[in-house]
Amino acid sequence: MTTIQQKIKTIKEKKQAIILAHNYQRPEIQDIADFVGDSLDLSRMAANTKARVIVFCGVHFMAETAKILSPNKMILLPDIDAGCPMADMVTVEEIKKLKSIHSDAVVVSYVNTPATVKAESDYCCTSANGLRVVSAIPEGKKIIFSPDKYLGSYIIKQTGRDMILTNGFCPTHQTITVEGILQLKEKYSQAVVIVHPECNSEVIDIADATLSTNGMCKYVTDSEANEFIVGTEIGIIHRLKKENPQKQFYPASERTVCPNMKLITIEKLLWALEEDAYQVEVPEDIAEKARMAIERMLAVV
Ligand code: SF4
Repeated sequence: MTTIQQKIKTIKEKKQAIILAHNYQRPEIQDIADFVGDSLDLSRMAANTKARVIVFCGVHFMAETAKILSPNKMILLPDIDAGCPMADMVTVEEIKKLKSIHSDAVVVSYVNTPATVKAESDYCCTSANGLRVVSAIPEGKKIIFSPDKYLGSYIIKQTGRDMILTNGFCPTHQTITVEGILQLKEKYSQAVVIVHPECNSEVIDIADATLSTNGMCKYVTDSEANEFIVGTEIGIIHRLKKENPQKQFYPASERTVCPNMKLITIEKLLWALEEDAYQVEVPEDIAEKARMAIERMLAVV
């Protein structure tokens, strides 16, 4: 163990802290975390942990969600600039306007949204449970879904539901192209193509499976195949290799790197623990309304 890893371990125990890391984090962050998972898993962990402090190695909306679910805990984000461009592609004003036009609609927000948008929503969902959340809404109900138009289109296709979509997308996942995947398929003809539903619809159409990051981990472990072309942020490949050392993984694009996820470094993680920074807060009136949408999501799964 390096000195910095040792220091993190010591201070974490002293402060009764837990380190949660998203599947897209750097390998050294994943390796030192108490728990690595997707947004849904991490929300559940944040809601149930007995720790006093949660250090969230991910992006801002994830730390906000942890604060909403655990208002009495200290939630730390090691780099306050670790945001999510997709989450910033929808505003609370846009949702309020859509609600005024479609007053009978149910509002479903992807977890990649600011707390203010969640507070105007009936349900949250993640890529792991979006299909189940939408399917749980009574047939015939109009649905407003934001911000990811590609995840929204995928859910429409799978469920046949009529949804009003906003215009958000993940810039990182747009580096994955049909051409790139077909080139890799020429080289690795036996490889199974797994992609995230934040990819564009053409990419999803040629994939063998469309899965959340945790869904990918389970799929790969259960699969008899030995080679996979992986269409999501390349941080996931560290976990896939660790859990399946005998299998081969090829990123669908080497450029699929989320610059925001990569802002979290091991040095910043140590600093966050030493300085109790940056503390993420959500005003209680917003948190109370947002909590209902998140808890409804957790109840569906
Ligand atoms: S990978 Fe995309 S959706 Fe995820 S945090 Fe980065 S920009 Fe946001």
